[in-house]
Amino acid sequence: AKRTLRGTTLVYSEHMKCDQERRLMIGQFLRQAVSSKEFSLSFQPIVSSSLQSIEAHEVLLRWNNPVLGSVSPDEFIPIAEESGEIVAIGAYVLDEALHQYAASGSASRSGKLAINLSLLQLVAPGLVDQVRNALAKHRISAHRLVLEVTESIFDDRNTALINTVLTELHRDGIEIHLDDFGTGYSSLSRLHEMPITALKIDKSFVQKGDAQATAIIEGSVLIARQFGIRVIAEGVETLAQAEALQEIGVDALQGYLFSRPVPRFQEAVTVAQIEQT
Ligand code: C2E
Ligand code: CA
Ligand code: CA
Ligand code: CA
Repeated sequence: AKRTLRGTTLVYSEHMKCDQERRLMIGQFLRQAVSSKEFSLSFQPIVSSSLQSIEAHEVLLRWNNPVLGSVSPDEFIPIAEESGEIVAIGAYVLDEALHQYAASGSASRSGKLAINLSLLQLVAPGLVDQVRNALAKHRISAHRLVLEVTESIFDDRNTALINTVLTELHRDGIEIHLDDFGTGYSSLSRLHEMPITALKIDKSFVQKGDAQATAIIEGSVLIARQFGIRVIAEGVETLAQAEALQEIGVDALQGYLFSRPVPRFQEAVTVAQIEQT
């Protein structure tokens, strides 16, 4: 029994070492990834729950490194956040996404553009100017931009600074959506502390589909109504899920049922395509 135990420990520590080495390697490679043009963008539509219109397209970052191959953002974003590299990567995402949105010529039919922001970007100096400059450069109205932030905005020593930054952006006409809603530990009562315009229910609740998850979604919708904000559900993969969410009163839906993230903005689905499904 002892030998088995030792064997197990050994395997475990080797895994840990591999994991640590991979993280280090990702961190190293991330430094040149923007300049080496290893990043690209994917776009995924968010549709109104009536399926009448496309409300927005979410921008999702993709990384293909010559050595590591394709790495998931769930793996590399936390590492980029730790090293601070996310600030440069985020600037690339903002500029490139707005460039493609402007260049598509179909922006008016494609709804808004939703971009994910890390906490580190929010507290880095100059974010407001960076966003304003990027919008001006690509001649896009602030009303067409959505910034998705996570509940980490409530759990930070910088709450006052974050509030100032988000309030300025919101005053310009930019929407602020609270992503991964329900997974953090922020209290619902703190929602009023930030200029949030919509909640994005995390896909784990959408996909569980049990009574408890449904209760959480229903509760979120009720609370959002009290605050006068909208609710979006992500990770919608089945018609049954879409219908249940529609029933609960969720305003907009996003997920593989409608479209996977697609590599070119121009190729993202149109309303006509959705109506056929
Ligand atoms: P997120 O912002 O919650 O994005 C939604 C994730 O769910 C995306 O994963 C998307 O591809 C995936 N998804 C969409 N529909 C479905 C579905 O029907 N079923 C399932 N199972 N998944 C679905 P992705 O693209 O791998 O991104 C993972 C996370 O990485 C994002 O989660 C976001 O937190 C982060 N991320 C991606 N791009 C950026 C970026 O440009 N900046 C920052 N800061 N974070 C980003
Ligand atoms: Ca998001
Ligand atoms: Ca999310
Ligand atoms: Ca997420």
